[in-house]
Amino acid sequence: MKQISIISGKGGTGKTTITSSFIKLAGDQVSVDCDVDAANLHIMLSPVIKESNDFIGGEAARVTGECIQCGKCEEACRFMAISDSETDIKIDPIKCEGCGVCEEICPVDAIELFSEKQGTYYISETKYGPMVHAKLDPGSENSGLIVSRIREIAEDIAVNNNKKAILIDGAPGIGCPVISSLNGVDYALIVTEPTLSGISDFKKAHELTKFFNIETFACINKSDINEKNSRIISDYCRDNDLTLLGKIPYDEMVPEALSRKQFIVDNPKSPAAKKIIEFWDKLKKILYS
Ligand code: SF4
Ligand code: SF4
Repeated sequence: MKQISIISGKGGTGKTTITSSFIKLAGDQVSVDCDVDAANLHIMLSPVIKESNDFIGGEAARVTGECIQCGKCEEACRFMAISDSETDIKIDPIKCEGCGVCEEICPVDAIELFSEKQGTYYISETKYGPMVHAKLDPGSENSGLIVSRIREIAEDIAVNNNKKAILIDGAPGIGCPVISSLNGVDYALIVTEPTLSGISDFKKAHELTKFFNIETFACINKSDINEKNSRIISDYCRDNDLTLLGKIPYDEMVPEALSRKQFIVDNPKSPAAKKIIEFWDKLKKILYS
């Protein structure tokens, strides 16, 4: 079983359009939506939820006992999660990393660590195979952890059902969730666009895949909106041993199809669809070899 993560370095490059097209073309596979902060793969795949579970994140400290305002916990917390007021001690649950130092140090055992629900993850069925996806609760920060969790579940499903591939819609950006989207995958595809910020984000995403030693492909979406920048990306790929699958031209039919929740690859007249199908034909030979 092989895994490919489709990432972009930033949102809005067409990553999910390309991933959902691959999933449609692949048919029998397991898909994962790692964009747990703003999931949208489900819009195209219309999953039927079979199972939903609470995601319990790491621990966080809370003041539960009688505080004598000694200030030791505030001094000891290196994450600056604790502040004091005239009357009490406050622990910021977002800054708290659950290290437990304050609980240890409190002379009157006024602090306790708790695990809290931080989101929900779903195991669903789609026309194109099982899908694992999740939603973080508002204010929850553990997107890297929940991405790791849903990827483990997807791997179990793939192994137990003899699926040959896992197609991962990676998290955008280059932070913890995208690192979790890449950890342990066989291949990565970076979707970029020919803008200055696109080039910069593309290079940062490539730094990550290089760090994890992942065989990486690239494709340039809306390549003809700036031919000069497209060439810069092609040259970068050539000079950095990165396989450029090709360029997808700007195509009005893509947003039209998306607005109707239709797969662009179902439109035989679409120039973008022709390229995406061509890319999948190349990738599937590698994934299923
Ligand atoms: S558990 Fe650690 S990070 Fe959280 S408030 Fe206590 S000392 Fe700070
Ligand atoms: S260490 Fe305990 S008693 Fe001292 S300020 Fe913190 S919570 Fe209060």
